[in-house]
Amino acid sequence: MPDPDDDATRTHGLSSRPMAPLRIGISACLLGARVRYDGGHRLNPLLARSWADDIQFIPFCPESECGLGTPREPMRLEGDARHPRLRTLHSRIDHTHRVNQWCRYAIRKQRTEKLSGYLLKSRSPSCGLTGVPVLSKRGEPLPGMGIFPRLVLADRPHLPLAEGDLLLDEEAVWCFLRQARGLEGNPSLAGTGVAID
Ligand code: SF4
Repeated sequence: MPDPDDDATRTHGLSSRPMAPLRIGISACLLGARVRYDGGHRLNPLLARSWADDIQFIPFCPESECGLGTPREPMRLEGDARHPRLRTLHSRIDHTHRVNQWCRYAIRKQRTEKLSGYLLKSRSPSCGLTGVPVLSKRGEPLPGMGIFPRLVLADRPHLPLAEGDLLLDEEAVWCFLRQARGLEGNPSLAGTGVAID
């Protein structure tokens, strides 16, 4: 039976010493920002509650912040799953370069802000981490990765990334935080930045 007065219980395995909150990048729609293509959001109430002592969220939205605005035409990834293009569904505009450039800029900036991890919206062609559909030339959906996490992992492969809308209980969030806290103070895992410069 866990002892509620025990430090290790109260801090979920994190250090009981006072520490600055972890700075975590997050897809803005997960915190309730209305930045999705249809003007909606994907609020995860668990993340939106106060984590003030433990997390400082740094929200971002590649698609709206790169100048595409909200609302906007929906997009999908197409072509080679390793190097997909990001195109609008109906007008067939290729936004790959625009979104790529913004993501590179954001990741460089976030590197100086010393982020310890990212919580990302699943299945988004820009933010999704795993299983994002990429429509092949033969019209088959293949599993891929969104533009932002692809660039983050090229820059800092050891950084903890998770799909924030799939974290459904506090223990899952604490598990992510333990991984992120583990990276702190280990500059050898902080990445070189070479891949995105
Ligand atoms: S998934 Fe990413 S690109 Fe899409 S609305 Fe959310 S933050 Fe913006």
